This record gives sequence, structure tokens and C-alpha cells, in this order.
Amino acid sequence: MTSDPTTALLGATEIRRLAGELDVRPTKTLGQNFVIDGNTIRRIVAAADVEPDEVVLEVGPGLGSLTLGILDAARRVVAVEIDPKLAARLPRTIAEFRPEKADALDVVLSDAMQVTELPHAPTALVANLPYNVAVPVVLHLFEHFPSLRHGLVMVQDEVADRLAATPGSKIYGVPSVKAAWYAHMRKAGIIGKNVFWPAPKINSGLVGFTRHDPPETPASREQVFAAIDAAFAQRRKTLRAALAGWAGSAAAAETALRAAGVDPQARGEKLGIEEFAAIAAHHPSMAGEA
Ligand code: SAM
Repeated sequence: MTSDPTTALLGATEIRRLAGELDVRPTKTLGQNFVIDGNTIRRIVAAADVEPDEVVLEVGPGLGSLTLGILDAARRVVAVEIDPKLAARLPRTIAEFRPEKADALDVVLSDAMQVTELPHAPTALVANLPYNVAVPVVLHLFEHFPSLRHGLVMVQDEVADRLAATPGSKIYGVPSVKAAWYAHMRKAGIIGKNVFWPAPKINSGLVGFTRHDPPETPASREQVFAAIDAAFAQRRKTLRAALAGWAGSAAAAETALRAAGVDPQARGEKLGIEEFAAIAAHHPSMAGEA
């Protein structure tokens, strides 16, 4: 730990002091596990590859552990926090530990799954996400903030693997395919339990992402996602059977799959996002468009 006040990060003592002062008892419902280790913060910020002129979106700043680290690397941080006590305290913590950066922070008191506008357009997402809503939060932010070009999030290790999984792997599923619509996702490390207070029961994982254009298809994102949901709702079935409800009948599903160049006997877990985009483009309602 460094004692230099310009780079000091929050350790166990400061986190407990702040929590005590606010009378905050971390709750599971809000996924409140606070990082108490400066080296972990430095590791996350380094892996996030943030450029000095970037505006970083942080979801769930909590007591400010990661916020301080990001502020050292970026031009601005927009922090979205659902807990009013934590949101209200954050500007004071930053003023205390990084007075020169106090104007570079915006705090938005909101549920991250509800935000559709922010005071500055973020170019990067760096966050230790609340674990129970990590996937929907990431997908929501991808959808509503096209300015997000890259990022790094900490989630449950198993969820990190799921987000970064590729077709054919056992854990490849809806989160993997939907995330791939927006970005290339990659696993960027594992973080142990002891760097948190309170310590979670399982390891955490880092996932980095780089945005890319979605596959070219006449189908909308919603239509592609509907095909994905249908295919994985019955993942043990062949696509012909799993997509019967989606297409209107098994025969209609087979026609759409063949037109998309996909084997009707295959299973959804073998297909990449491009193939789902092609399948959606051949839904019976798209006749004449593909
Ligand atoms: N960033 C801090 C750190 O690393 O120490 C705290 C991370 S903690 C895992 C998750 C944070 O997200 C908590 O501060 C919690 O209050 C907040 N949170 C939970 N659900 C949220 C939501 N839906 N929208 C925004 N923030 C949320």
C-alpha cells in the first residue's frame, strides 16, 4: 500500500470507517461486496486499458474504491449508484482522497437497468458489477449507450466464463450470444474472495470487451434476440423442434433454418451470432426481405 495522498486507494480500514459512518450494512440483494485491496483496483484499471481522455461509466461505485482508481486513469467518471446513502457520500470521498479530481465526477442516483441518458457520453465501462444483475445490466448498457467502445467488468467467475464463451462450449448460452451481438468479449482474469468486504462465497472473474458492429441482417436486434431466446429455451432439442413455436410450426422452422444455411438437426449451442442473425432474417414474417 502506498501512503502517497495523490494515489492512495481505499483499504480495509477506510472502507470500514466509511461504512460505519454511513451505517451501511452491505446487502446481498444489492450485491454489495466492496473491494478493500488497492492492488486489485490497480489491476482492474490496468486491464481496462483506459485512455487519459476517456469518459468512463462506472456502475455501482459503492464506497468509491474503484472510482478513485478510474479517476487516476481517465478524464471523467460517470458513476451510477442505486443506493442513496452511497451515492450521496461519493463526491465527499473523492474530494477527500482526490481533491483535484472532484470536478471530474458525476454521480447519478439510479438503477443502472433504468438509465437511458447520462450527463456525458461514456466511451468505456469499468465496473465491479452487482452480481445478481450483471448480465442484464451489461446488455442494457450495450443497447442504450452506443458510445461505449470498450470496457472491463468484474462479475462472478462463472458469469465471466459464460459471457466470454464461444459456440460449442458447455456454458455457451443466451448471455454469450447476446453479448456477441454487440462486442467481442474476453476473459481477463480471476479475482479471489479475500479482496472484498464482505468476502463473497465464490471467486470473481474479469471480462473485457471491445465493441463491434452487429452482424449485417435485415432482421432487427429484437427479432434476432427472439430467435436466440427460443433456441435456448429448449436447448436439448434440435433447432427444428426448438424453433417450432417461434416459426409457427416445425416445418416452417425447418424452411427458415435451411434458407439460413443452418442444419435443422443442429442445436442452438453450436451456433454463433451470425447464424442467429441469418435465421431471424428468414422468419416467415420476413418473406421478401432477406
Ligand atoms: N464499486 C464498488 C467496489 O468495487 O468496491 C462496489 C461494488 S459492489 C459489487 C456493487 C455496487 O452496485 C454496490 O454499491 C450496490 O449498491 C450497487 N448496485 C446494486 N444494484 C445496482 C443497480 N441496479 N444499479 C446501480 N447500482 C447498483
